[in-house]
Amino acid sequence: MQTEPDFCPFCGTQGRLDEIESSILEYDSDFWLIYHWVCQVCGEQFDKVELSDYQEITLEDDEDSL
Ligand SMILES: [Zn+2]
Repeated sequence: MQTEPDFCPFCGTQGRLDEIESSILEYDSDFWLIYHWVCQVCGEQFDKVELSDYQEITLEDDEDSL
């Protein structure tokens, strides 16, 4: 599920955000999903990091294989 921010945290403009390609970061055996947005008005880029559920999926697969 995508949780797009309502407004730009730099200039406060609503509804003018471009989403660019998100990335996945593996850290301490957790997978973090990093969303990136660019504001069309002020040009600032900002990120939102969420813990991905990818790890739960792989853990279930590991249990099946044991
Ligand atoms: Zn802005």
